[in-house]
Amino acid sequence: MNLNVDNELMKKIIVAIDGFSSCGKSTMARALAREVGYVYVDTGAMYRAVALYCYRKGWMSPDAMDEQQIAEQVGSIQLEFKLRDDGNADMYLNGENVETEIRTLEMSNGASRVSTLGAVRRELVRQQQLMGLKKGIVMDGRDIGTVVFPEAELKVFLTASAEVRAQRRMQELLAKGETVVYAEVLANVKERDDRDQNRSESPLRKAHDAKVIDNTDLTPDQQQDRLRELFLETVTSR
Ligand code: C5P
Repeated sequence: MNLNVDNELMKKIIVAIDGFSSCGKSTMARALAREVGYVYVDTGAMYRAVALYCYRKGWMSPDAMDEQQIAEQVGSIQLEFKLRDDGNADMYLNGENVETEIRTLEMSNGASRVSTLGAVRRELVRQQQLMGLKKGIVMDGRDIGTVVFPEAELKVFLTASAEVRAQRRMQELLAKGETVVYAEVLANVKERDDRDQNRSESPLRKAHDAKVIDNTDLTPDQQQDRLRELFLETVTSR
C-alpha cells in the first residue's frame, strides 16, 4: 500500500518509536516511512558509529572506556545518513560508509555502553532534533518520545519477550555469517535491556502518552497494520 499523505491537506507529523533492543523497531519504522513518504532515522546507528570511532581510537575496549576523551571529542565526530538507490540509508562516519561494521554484536555492546554517557547523548539528541525540524520524520531509538521529541504527535513503544527477540537477533547474525550461540545472544539482549533501563542518563521508558505494540505473537504484517492504523488515526484527527 502506498499512502500518499505528503500533501498540503495533511500536516506532516513526527513519529517517535521507542522500545527494547531487537524488537524490530527499525524494520517497522523504515516500512512506515517508505509508505507515507517520510524520512526515516535510525538513531541506534548513530550510537553504534560513535562506538566504532571510540574503538578505533583506542578510547574503548571490551572492559574499559575513556569517558573524558569521548566526552571531549564527540562533537567533532561527523555522522551522516546517505540514501542508497534502493531508498535505504547507510551510516557514514567521517565520510566513510560504516553500515556493515556497526552491525556486529561487538558494536551493539559498544553502542549500549557509549550511550550511557551524558555528553554523547546530549550531542546526538541535538543532531536528532535538527533532523526533525521540518517534521515528516519517523525516528526510532530509546528516548525519542521521552527526550528527543517529547511533543511528537505519534509515539509508539514496541516490545516483545527477551527470548523471542534473541531468536530473531540470532537469525539476523547467522544470516550475516557471524558465529553465534543462542545463550550468548539472549544474555546480550538482557544485558542491553538492563543497561538501557537503568542508566541515569535518559533511561529507556515508555512515554506516558505512547501506544504500546507487543509483537511477541504478531506477524510482521499484523504489526505493520497496527502501526499504519495508529498513523492514520493521528494524521486524520488533527
Ligand atoms: O537500536 P540499536 O540496537 O541499533 O541501538 C544500539 C544501542 O544504542 C542500544 O542498545 C542503546 O543502548 C543505544 N541507543 C540509545 N538511544 C537511542 C538509540 C540507541 O541509547 N536513541
